[in-house]
Amino acid sequence: MFEKILIANRGEIALRVQRACRELGIKTVAVHSEADAEAKYVKLADESVCIGPAAPALSYLNIPAIISAAEVTDAEAIHPGYGFLSENADFAERVEKSGFVFIGPKAETIRLMGDKVSAKAAMKKAGVPCVPGSDGSLSEVPEEIVKTARAVGYPVIIKAAGGGGGRGMRVVHTEAALLNAVQMTRAEAQAAFSNPMVYMEKYLEKPRHIEIQVLADKFRNAIYLGDRDCSMQRRHQKIIEEAPAPHLSARSRVRVGERCAEACRKIGYEGAGTFEFLYENEEFYFIEMNTRLQVEHPVTEFVTGIDLVQAQIRIAAGERMPVKQRDIELKGHAIECRINAEDPLKFTPSPGRVTAWHMPGGPGIRVDSHVYANYFVPPNYDSLIGKLIAYGDTREQAIARMSIALSETVVEGIKTNVPLHIDLMQDAAFRRGGTSIHYLEEKLAKSVKSE
Ligand code: ADP
Repeated sequence: MFEKILIANRGEIALRVQRACRELGIKTVAVHSEADAEAKYVKLADESVCIGPAAPALSYLNIPAIISAAEVTDAEAIHPGYGFLSENADFAERVEKSGFVFIGPKAETIRLMGDKVSAKAAMKKAGVPCVPGSDGSLSEVPEEIVKTARAVGYPVIIKAAGGGGGRGMRVVHTEAALLNAVQMTRAEAQAAFSNPMVYMEKYLEKPRHIEIQVLADKFRNAIYLGDRDCSMQRRHQKIIEEAPAPHLSARSRVRVGERCAEACRKIGYEGAGTFEFLYENEEFYFIEMNTRLQVEHPVTEFVTGIDLVQAQIRIAAGERMPVKQRDIELKGHAIECRINAEDPLKFTPSPGRVTAWHMPGGPGIRVDSHVYANYFVPPNYDSLIGKLIAYGDTREQAIARMSIALSETVVEGIKTNVPLHIDLMQDAAFRRGGTSIHYLEEKLAKSVKSE
């Protein structure tokens, strides 16, 4: 096992990884920007190194500074968390070339999955069901594009191969609008991702977002740890996640899970990963793979009893998978609410000084947050300030516990989306379960109209 790990991230996930390390008896190095110098988790680390000013490009994305910090502190491995450099293949490569272990899959795997056209091709080959669409990237020949769209059937969606963060996509409903849309998406993709390659998919009208968590070791042992429903989204950003996905049959769950685990074996995947799917009419359609830990990993930890961060660390250290597929038993139900520092109605960021901070507790409640009273939420980063996770024997119990937890939560000095979560826990459609990825936007649009 490693003696010392450097955590190349900030906020709640830096604290989450630190806790896993401490439990395993591993020393930690916190790297931080000038804006995060006073954070409590930085003080709790065995060592800390300031890697630059507040701007992410100069600190949390500053590869040479992070590698130097690992060198001066004699860390053996680097955990990238999520976001920032976690899916940057060049970073993973630099970490390994500098003699450290990157806690995640191999750089070549990150690269393969980072290009959506190559990722889809690899998944198709491995037997994972994909959204019907163009075979690879879209042809430059207008007649070919028209032919592909006719074969796929309207509406279609044009997507950038290098896209991410919900950008570089365009829905097309008619043939008349097709060629222009392709051309515009290409131009945008070139400007935003320096890659003009685009591809076409059937546009699914009312899908749910369901994802499969996997773990794979260096010896091609791969397992799946059930699924998560992350359909409650605004602008492609998840705000509530739950495990298991409501109303999913045991048979579908096993079938898609096994395909994902098999795909991991086929591509030599290492570490924790997530296969994201759109789910419509009881069919799964692969959209992308995330080659890192996800924000929503705690709901899976609740229902499987497996610590995913510790598993990542053990796998990176070369240990064999400690459990077999048959040992994985999904028990109960877990829901996560992402607490964002933002206006609950207008969604504008709300950074600043937190004057009061009281977090809930009680049976089945977990709070993952680096915030405390008098903490200053810097304006430079993502608005996520914490996650509230509720577990129950049943979905109803998890919702009840979450509602109570939200009612106990006190955050003053800044605005948060807690009121929105309180509202959603009472929402009839959410309570029934199985809402589509468009549900929240439609609900918000209606409430604006009725005001
Ligand atoms: P990104 O990497 O930018 O997040 P994804 O491929 O994961 O891109 O797609 C993001 C979101 O866009 C999905 O969660 C879904 O809401 C929508 N989307 C993508 N592909 C389709 C499709 N074929 N049909 C309907 N919606 C889609």
